[in-house]
Formats: sequence, C-alpha cells, structure tokens
Amino acid sequence: MAVPKRKLSKARRDKRRSNVWKLEMPAFSKCPQCGELKAPHRVCGNCGFYKGKEIIKKEA
Ligand SMILES: [Zn+2]
Repeated sequence: MAVPKRKLSKARRDKRRSNVWKLEMPAFSKCPQCGELKAPHRVCGNCGFYKGKEIIKKEA
C-alpha cells in the first residue's frame, strides 16, 4: 500500500470527492458585434455574427 507523503485534511479530501470542484461558472465572452454576452467559440445568438461574418441571417 502506498505511504502518504503528506496527509490531506479531511476537508481537502472530502472536497475532492464532493462535486464542488465541478461547479464552476459557465464561460461567457462578449460579442464584438453587438456587445451581448455569448458562449465563446460559438455564433452569437443575438446578432448571428461570428469572426466578423454574419452566419445566421436575421431580419432587423
Ligand atoms: Zn452579437
């Protein structure tokens, strides 16, 4: 059996086993076209622009 080099506290050990480290805020980036918050590396849901080009045509 492996001998632990340093003992982790109960809090650190239990935190690793719990789900807290998976609970992170979803990433968001600002759309350069309309300034709306959008998912990164995705076409903007508000204006349909991605990388300076209109991907989804929307009626104004
Ligand atoms: Zn946009």
